[in-house]
Amino acid sequence: MTKQKGNIDIKTENIFPIIKKFLYSDHEIFLREIISNAVDATQKLKTLASMGKVKDDLGDLTIHVDVNKKKKTITITDRGIGMTKDEVEKYINQIAFSSAEEFVKKFKNKSEAESNAIIGHFGLGFYSSFMVSELVEIKTKTYKKGGSTKAVHWECDGSPSYTLEEIDKNDRGTEIILHIDDENKEFLEDHKVNELLTKYCKFLPVPIQFGMEKIQEPIEGEKDKDGNQKTKEVERPKIINNPNPLWKSKPADSKDEDYKNFYRELYPYNFDEPLFHIHLNVDYPFNLTGILYFPKVKKDYELQRNKIQLYSNQVFVTDSVEGIVPDFLTLLHGVIDSPDIPLNVSRSYLQSDSNVKKISSYINKKVADKLAEIFKKDREGFEKKWDDIKIFIEYGMISEPKFYDKAEKFALLKNTDDKYFTFEEYKKHIEKTQKDKDKKLVYLYATNVDEQYSYIETAKERGYDVLVLDGALDSHFINNLEQKFENSSFARVDSNTIDKLINKEDEAPSKLDDKEKEDVKKAFERNIDAKAYNVVFENMSETDMPVMIMQNEFMRRMKDMEAIGGGSGMMGLGGLPDTYEMVVNVNNPLIGKILKEEAEESQDKLIKQVYDLARLSKNLLKGKELTDFVKRSIDIID
Ligand code: ADP
Repeated sequence: MTKQKGNIDIKTENIFPIIKKFLYSDHEIFLREIISNAVDATQKLKTLASMGKVKDDLGDLTIHVDVNKKKKTITITDRGIGMTKDEVEKYINQIAFSSAEEFVKKFKNKSEAESNAIIGHFGLGFYSSFMVSELVEIKTKTYKKGGSTKAVHWECDGSPSYTLEEIDKNDRGTEIILHIDDENKEFLEDHKVNELLTKYCKFLPVPIQFGMEKIQEPIEGEKDKDGNQKTKEVERPKIINNPNPLWKSKPADSKDEDYKNFYRELYPYNFDEPLFHIHLNVDYPFNLTGILYFPKVKKDYELQRNKIQLYSNQVFVTDSVEGIVPDFLTLLHGVIDSPDIPLNVSRSYLQSDSNVKKISSYINKKVADKLAEIFKKDREGFEKKWDDIKIFIEYGMISEPKFYDKAEKFALLKNTDDKYFTFEEYKKHIEKTQKDKDKKLVYLYATNVDEQYSYIETAKERGYDVLVLDGALDSHFINNLEQKFENSSFARVDSNTIDKLINKEDEAPSKLDDKEKEDVKKAFERNIDAKAYNVVFENMSETDMPVMIMQNEFMRRMKDMEAIGGGSGMMGLGGLPDTYEMVVNVNNPLIGKILKEEAEESQDKLIKQVYDLARLSKNLLKGKELTDFVKRSIDIID
């Protein structure tokens, strides 16, 4: 056969300049596209062989990637099914070209952000090689026998014309030779190729070889003086991928250790072990496999999204999975592999796609079931992990009602004695003691056990229990629980006097008469910054502190929500101030004593002292005021 020249059938306009110029930002995907074609061709051959349609010995099917810096080429060689001349004309010149053309058309009417999203998900296919090449060659020989099955050589320099001729080629399969243009020289660097292979090809199902690696090989029959096996350094071709990633194996065949090792394979730079894993495996009504890990996060701010990698038949697609998994699960780590997730569409379409919705709710359910199972099987182990996994579960419960319905059976509440309760258990635990006079159940909680220590103690003295709700999402979570729990409310232990928080009976009678109360009021107003505190007088128990500082529950929650950016609307007004209330317990004997002081000066001194003590227990006394307090205290002792 002589060299055949031809023009690729162009319907609209020359797409090559467009491929080259405008698809610039994500041009690195060319390698994934070419290698996935090689993988497909190899898989097809294996399938044919398993059906008895290929009788030859398949031999080594490793795909090779070679970079020749001098010739400025990257060559991808496979030993798959190859193509006949007719197939090259059909698949490369016609089909592949028209789908590339269609792609470019779609691409052209999109904003840059949208087009990046498309190109990342939707393979431009074989023609993506022209993003980085000035010339592309194909040398291919089909597995088929007889007829016109001679090997062929196709070549195209990024203009619509190509050449096609028969050549001699011994090996079955395809060789794609990319002549990298000057603008894309970086792809001729080993480290760059390595980076791309690791990113896109790490779990492709056919071994891929690039470069060499040094290993220590045992020398047979030779031991050193301590009896250890002697080794020598040898170089061997380096396989860059793991063709049988763990998520493809059956959950029953995999051990805990395998999951830990695989986690390390996925995140070589994350040295923490995951808390636990969930193996996803479903083939009806859609096909999905994967492994999700609950990562160990030391600090809430270490939470990262986009640690889940999405694959389609082991080809890496993206690591931004919003819309595919429920939002709260984007905080997990791991892989999801599904050929059923449409990748060639925009994100907004993805979110409304019914397959994606099913997948999302499947994952949601699977995660909840797995957590329920661990909780049932090993409650103690679950409790130990609770503080670490709580953030994920709370987020899920807040954002996904369906997840809440399952999680309410295993979600835990921890009290200040480090005891864990399910919602139901805790309700039973406090039901008898913490109902107020209107039969409303009051859940007391602390957000900082050290800072709220004295308030916790006061509550405990009354026989009450206090929860620890100190997580980043807890203020949201509490709102959520208040909506779910019937006839219940949550109150931070320091948000009011304990007898106001759980109001059991009408106010105790006052020990002071009206005139005396008026005097106390005047004396306090003389000494206390009215701007900082709203002073109220209450008849409490004699044993309660004379002066207490409280932070109103409602105002504090608003502030907390504002701080984590959760609120909207009225929060737009800008920073909310801290609002504290100062409660004077007129029934505490000390208040009566202060009144009896004749001299205004000594009255003031005592009021300042109790006021400072209250502030001190709330960690509000600082700087000069603290120094003044210390001086005054010494004075009083004197
Ligand atoms: P897609 O892979 O989406 O079908 P491509 O443009 O990447 O589109 O490839 C077009 C076609 O060319 C493939 O479907 C396949 O038939 C053929 N092809 C590409 N690369 C190879 C290869 N390495 N071996 C055999 N056939 C190939």
